[in-house]
Amino acid sequence: MRSSNGVDFTFLTCLNICMLGRSIIHIDMDAFFASVELKKHPELKGKPVIVGGNGDPTKRGVVSAASYEARKFGIRSGMPLRTAYKKCPQAIFLPVDFEAYENESEKFMSILREYTALIESFGIDEAFMDVTECGKNALDIAREIKKRIREELGLTASVGIAPNKLLAKMASDMNKPDGFTAIRERDIAKTLSPLPVRKLWGVGEKTEKRLHGLGIRTIGELAKLPAEYLERNFGKSFGRMLYEYSRGIDESPVVPFYEPSSFSREITFQQDTRDLYLIKETLFELAKDAADRLKYNAYKAKTVTMKVRYRDFHTITRAKTMDESTDSFNDIWTTAQEIFHRIDFSKEVRLVGVKVSGLVKGR
Ligand SMILES: [Mg+2]
Repeated sequence: MRSSNGVDFTFLTCLNICMLGRSIIHIDMDAFFASVELKKHPELKGKPVIVGGNGDPTKRGVVSAASYEARKFGIRSGMPLRTAYKKCPQAIFLPVDFEAYENESEKFMSILREYTALIESFGIDEAFMDVTECGKNALDIAREIKKRIREELGLTASVGIAPNKLLAKMASDMNKPDGFTAIRERDIAKTLSPLPVRKLWGVGEKTEKRLHGLGIRTIGELAKLPAEYLERNFGKSFGRMLYEYSRGIDESPVVPFYEPSSFSREITFQQDTRDLYLIKETLFELAKDAADRLKYNAYKAKTVTMKVRYRDFHTITRAKTMDESTDSFNDIWTTAQEIFHRIDFSKEVRLVGVKVSGLVKGR
């Protein structure tokens, strides 16, 4: 049920609620890459737009993002572009434009920073905020942020407000896109119980299958299981996590001043290749891209990692740590070449990637 001002009242009966414990907001930009592309190309609004690879669906590469119109055709992130093209040939395919997304992301984060320093970014388009000590109602803050994202960035976000990160994250996902959902302390069990286990944060496809195998389909059923049983079946720490999460328990703090731990990019060749010249040229581009992103974001990296996936999907990574942190393309490319010579390129290669990690802030 949605009221005229967009607040979802499913779990909310009174606006002047005082949530026990903490007030955590999770904000998740809606279809971020696709929405930024629509902002760049407003003429494409209302059309199915698919972002991925270099924007050519006849070539290899995967879908990075899809507009909601494209999702109606079954397009999902991670799907090969060729499959996406088969499902929705009328879609507009666009290349990935990291710089544009990073720009918008920075604007998004700087709006959040005006409310509190307790912000933990979670990827490029999501963040947690702890507004417990802000001296202002969490719902008012969340509403204001949504409005500013709409007016100042021309984009929409879904927000979740709850007593902890787990519930805030799940709430923001409940009424996407443009959602506004709060979960009160006393409604936790009622809200979580009927949801399929897959909706629980941390439960992926594999865990879902295993839970189904154990006859567990909903979070409510999961919450009835004793901790020992879950620990025996899923290992001590993950079992304990399932036990707590299914009860809506999450004590983890919002950790501010999040720094990215790496920058990486990979490219899938149009055809599997043994062409050393092509492979090296591609690695050169990836190393260049890594150095550009370090400079652009004012970081230096200590370690270069190369990833190679062979035709049979066997994947290897080889890393080398440099003597000093650097953002220089020359240093990164020199290191990448040393790694290159240690890798077996006698088999056909499907994908190569370059990652720089061990990041420190500084120009
Ligand atoms: Mg998002």
